[in-house]
Amino acid sequence: MDRLLELNPADGVAVVEPGLILDDLQEAARRVGWYYPPDPASLKECSVGGTLATNAGGPRCVKYGVTRHYVLGLEVVLPDGQILETGGRCHKNKTGLDLIGMFVGSEGLLGVITQATLRLIPHPEARAMLTATFPDFETAAEAVQAILNQGWQPSGLEITDGFTLQAARDYLGPEMLPDGDAHLIVELDGRRDTILQDLAKLRELVDTLGAITVEEARDPESCEAIWKLRREFSYSLRATGLIKLNEDIVVPRSKLVDLVRFARQLEQDTGIPVACFGHAGDGNIHTNLMVKDYETDPAEKVKADAALDLLFKWVIANNGQITGEHGVGLAKKRWFADAVSPVSVEVHRRLKEALDPKGILNPGKFLG
Ligand SMILES: Cc1cc2nc3c(=O)[nH]c(=O)nc-3n(C[C@H](O)[C@H](O)[C@H](O)COP(=O)(O)OP(=O)(O)OC[C@H]3O[C@@H](n4cnc5c(N)ncnc54)[C@H](O)[C@@H]3O)c2cc1C
Repeated sequence: MDRLLELNPADGVAVVEPGLILDDLQEAARRVGWYYPPDPASLKECSVGGTLATNAGGPRCVKYGVTRHYVLGLEVVLPDGQILETGGRCHKNKTGLDLIGMFVGSEGLLGVITQATLRLIPHPEARAMLTATFPDFETAAEAVQAILNQGWQPSGLEITDGFTLQAARDYLGPEMLPDGDAHLIVELDGRRDTILQDLAKLRELVDTLGAITVEEARDPESCEAIWKLRREFSYSLRATGLIKLNEDIVVPRSKLVDLVRFARQLEQDTGIPVACFGHAGDGNIHTNLMVKDYETDPAEKVKADAALDLLFKWVIANNGQITGEHGVGLAKKRWFADAVSPVSVEVHRRLKEALDPKGILNPGKFLG
């Protein structure tokens, strides 16, 4: 079930089967001048169905929102075998409850998505990017706030810490990243005739924010090269040989600098390296505990789990959430009840019970 069934610019929709690879959808839309913005860094390997079931995000959310904002209609096979069709191909629809919102992000717990009608928007004509390195992560995090506070609406705003940069230099070669202990990516998109003027103005601002180096990408090829590099960060961490406990926590953006300070403190207190990078514009920083023998050394596992407890406790106490885009699944099941209210847990259970009373879909996951 991996077909692109329809691409219809007149209606601004694509109708897809869930096994379609996300990159293939984005490419097909781009070829006809249209755009499907949800863009997790796994786009070349993840299915549209998987991104719907996890309500995937990615770098473009800071301007374009998450997957849910692009789902107009769904066909879902319910656990009792009935086929539900909800929504349609209209860009606005307030007929009944938001059942699409219930299934998008439901992690395969409520039904199996067999077809989706997705919203496409006109592809931005042009994009341009700035990358900058900073002496430390805190200065880069402060730069994120300054860019937004000055009225910029980037289509990507990402930061990366020193541990991740070192892993990337080791994996990809030292020449791939200039000196600095933190890295900032800012992407702008818009009209071809104004984008370079915007880039120049943005550069004037970034030059005042304490950067060590600032580089510009003015054409599609150099922009894509930066995103390609950014997508390698996750794989670079894997290549360290350490186990990456990837926590895609999210905090209100004003807490970004506090989060970074907390991560450094956690590293000192536990001796476990903490690699931070991600979607700073949304406060969604992937905070990766880099553990040596998580699966084979019970003592190491206990230590790492205790560190995760501290991390999630801090996040919840600071009005954050334990997952911004990957979902609860199995890995964060332990913390679900701490992260939401008892009434919310009860409502989740009732929904699951109503749709899947025999518990046949994704048994054992966070509602299991
Ligand atoms: C290198 C890397 C970088 C990533 N970066 C990001 C990022 O920036 N932002 C982000 O949001 N995510 C990111 N992710 C996670 C990514 O979003 C998920 O991998 C993807 O959304 C899941 O797609 P999948 O095809 O791998 O799904 P799977 O892993 O196969 O499934 C995910 C879940 O969805 C359920 N599911 C799958 N298909 C259906 C269906 N048709 N109906 C009902 N349930 C279904 C499964 O049961 C499972 O619970 C990243 C992952 C990797 C590996």
